[in-house]
Amino acid sequence: MTEPNRIIQLDENTIGHIAAGEVVERPAQVVKELVENSIDAGAGIITIDVERGGFDLMRILDDGSGIHEEDLPLSLDRHATSKLRSQEDLASIGTLGFRGEALASIGMVSRLTISSRPPGSEGRQIIMDNGNKGFVEPAGIAEGTCIEVAHIFANQPARLSFQRRPATETSQIVDVVVSHAISHPEVGFRLTSDDKVILEVPAVEEMEDRLYDILGRQAGRMIEISSPPSDDAAPGEENWKGWISTPDITRGKGDDIHILINGRPVASQPFLQSIRRGYRTRLMQGRHPVAVLMLELPADEVDVNVHPTKREVRLRHSWRVLERLERAIAYTLESTPTEPESSGGITGITSLASQPVEKRSVEKPAWAKMAQVSLTGDKPIEIKQTEKPRPVSVAESSQTTITGKEAIAPALSSSERELHRHAGFDAEDPESSEPLGPVINNLPAMEPLAQFADSYILVQADEELLLIDQHALHERVRYERLRHDESLWQAQKRISSVPLELDARQIARLEARIEDLTSMGFIIESSAGGYSISSAPALLSASELEPFVHDLLLDMSEDGAPLETVEQRKDHLAFLNACRGAVKANERLNLPQMRRLLDDMRRIPNPWACVHGRPTAMRIPLNALDHHFGRHG
Ligand code: ADP
Ligand code: MG
Repeated sequence: MTEPNRIIQLDENTIGHIAAGEVVERPAQVVKELVENSIDAGAGIITIDVERGGFDLMRILDDGSGIHEEDLPLSLDRHATSKLRSQEDLASIGTLGFRGEALASIGMVSRLTISSRPPGSEGRQIIMDNGNKGFVEPAGIAEGTCIEVAHIFANQPARLSFQRRPATETSQIVDVVVSHAISHPEVGFRLTSDDKVILEVPAVEEMEDRLYDILGRQAGRMIEISSPPSDDAAPGEENWKGWISTPDITRGKGDDIHILINGRPVASQPFLQSIRRGYRTRLMQGRHPVAVLMLELPADEVDVNVHPTKREVRLRHSWRVLERLERAIAYTLESTPTEPESSGGITGITSLASQPVEKRSVEKPAWAKMAQVSLTGDKPIEIKQTEKPRPVSVAESSQTTITGKEAIAPALSSSERELHRHAGFDAEDPESSEPLGPVINNLPAMEPLAQFADSYILVQADEELLLIDQHALHERVRYERLRHDESLWQAQKRISSVPLELDARQIARLEARIEDLTSMGFIIESSAGGYSISSAPALLSASELEPFVHDLLLDMSEDGAPLETVEQRKDHLAFLNACRGAVKANERLNLPQMRRLLDDMRRIPNPWACVHGRPTAMRIPLNALDHHFGRHG
């Protein structure tokens, strides 16, 4: 039996270090705490300067209320705050901070200088150097507060060894500043990193203006949300406001979803599912919209005191709140294409209803067309094609080349038309590319007999007659070829560079991972006019470049994170391009071309379905024919 270890009361210094571990995990968190303090102090403009990802220096300057000189030493003590007086106040927190821990914790792990000058007073400063508090001294400073954090974690080698690269930390800091800038349009922000201006947004009155300043061009395509009228009578005082992107602007991650609860930015994770559900089927699998969603509710219905960094909060009626959000999004998307007002003053979703019909169908965004079916009572606007007779195949002898340049274009089915929304590319001659690898499935050697309706190939395959959809098959063949063709991912210099619109966060990530991007074949240049792509993998068309890079940058938000985007996009791009270059229905093929398609069909793993899951072939066994014609004895 060993003696029990005795319990002692830890000394203040040790307690401080334990607490500091939670509040200041990384420089970006320090920036968050200090920016929140400035906002709480009623600042009109906040200037943030960081050096080497914050590891060398973080300086946050504001023009807020300042700190009373007698309170300066106290501001460095744990659980010392001006924002809370008693336990009762905890039930209705109106400030971002209230725990009184940030400055004390930061001062334990850095050299922290607080300089402050309340209006009408003298400037004073105090320094806390890795836990050692100094004395209040005079300081030359404008009205407001300046907090400097130097050499964070320099005395904590263990913590330092867990830190990310400075460029990655800079991009996290940009994320923090952006999320606060979005939640507080009435405050101006200026962020510099190593003396370079990363973000500069003036104080504005309207949230729309802030969104423009932060999100750039795409803000113009956001829709203001509104709740269904029936929700007015629903129980609860909570209310959602905000903007969501049209379903054609999406991201691979939820990082561009900003959730504010009573003005406090919180983690978006708990809301993602409801948001996706609000979009119904309009979002592709695994995609997320861009959104700024603001929940207002009585202060006593939200508990912010559940997490040291306050990124997570607890809602008293969380289900009700989430369902309201889902309903508002669904209602907004359903009513948007027909209700011009619902663009809420953010232009871009133009007034469709007030325009002549021909113009309407042109300007309607692609997603709105797709969404037509579910629109309330609104008849789909469709470009009616005059029905043309299906072509009749002619004898092989009179066929010359593939081309289809005779422009036989009878009506496609509406689903077909949707499939080819992206088309506009010339079909690839099936004979033009190298054969795929070895024969890998158990299809027999096949012989084309004829083409029917310029769309189906009649094929003899041992004891079966196959009717093959030439488009579906070619699509599948092309998919396999594209998916495994690394040469398509080789860098290709673009004749004219493609402009790349990036917001501050994306720029920070770009700079953090520029080498990785280069190794993937991207050359991205910056000039006075902004960023542009001068070289990129050959497979990416000019119009795909910008969204692809945006997704990639999301993947790159943390060091070492897997680049899911690349694998997924290899798939997706092969998928899209497979359809684009495939021979179409109503396109005449000659026998060698048909032979080639059939030969390729034996070299793909899944010859029976096209990439959209539709069948490529209909099989008619000889004995079924015999049976039909009564040849069975
Ligand atoms: P909390 O924000 O939870 O109160 P902090 O440790 O972040 O705790 O700050 C302690 C106190 O210092 C605050 O309550 C506030 O009174 C004061 N303070 C900190 N930063 C500022 C600032 N930028 N302007 C004015 N007062 C500040
Ligand atoms: Mg604080």
